[in-house]
Amino acid sequence: MLEMRPSCECCDRDLPASEDGAMICSFECTFCAPCTQDVLNGACPNCGGGLVPRPTRTGTALAKFPASTKRIVKQTGCV
Ligand SMILES: [Zn+2]
Ligand SMILES: [Zn+2]
Repeated sequence: MLEMRPSCECCDRDLPASEDGAMICSFECTFCAPCTQDVLNGACPNCGGGLVPRPTRTGTALAKFPASTKRIVKQTGCV
């Protein structure tokens, strides 16, 4: 099950589980679409893997399996 992290690791922007716009790698490192496109060139800076659009989780699924609330931000910046 995806961890559904609450924010972009680059810019700490909120990325709600129920909304489009989050990108993840296979390790669930999570970034916003603008950072993925403009800063990271589509690749995860932690593992080098590709970043793909994260599916959303909504309604009862989200209520039953809440998104993570642990914010992860790279203090040193993501590039
Ligand atoms: Zn970002
Ligand atoms: Zn990664």
